[in-house]
Amino acid sequence: MEERERRIGRNQTLFREVNERIEQVSGALRTGTNMMTILCECGNQSCAEHIEVSSADYERIRAEPTLFLLRPGHALPDVEEVVEHQDGYDIARKNGPAAEVAEQLDPRDG
Ligand SMILES: [Zn+2]
Repeated sequence: MEERERRIGRNQTLFREVNERIEQVSGALRTGTNMMTILCECGNQSCAEHIEVSSADYERIRAEPTLFLLRPGHALPDVEEVVEHQDGYDIARKNGPAAEVAEQLDPRDG
């Protein structure tokens, strides 16, 4: 059980790394819009769905290492809890081993 949660946590941190790069690139392009398209950060490895989020909201969520952006309905109740519903996505907070992994692998740390 715990190993499954750690695996899900690691998987989600990979999506988060990709999204960090997307944010850096979209910031560099300065398209004039503050909306960005990122990948769903759910624990399903085969999920390739996209989320539209404003860069301000993305920054607010990313400041918390245990928060992830998911398509509505993609949260896994045994590893995370949906704390906020937004237009087009949910914000989920990791708990237990998945949260530990998320904090250890925080791309904003340091
Ligand atoms: Zn998903």
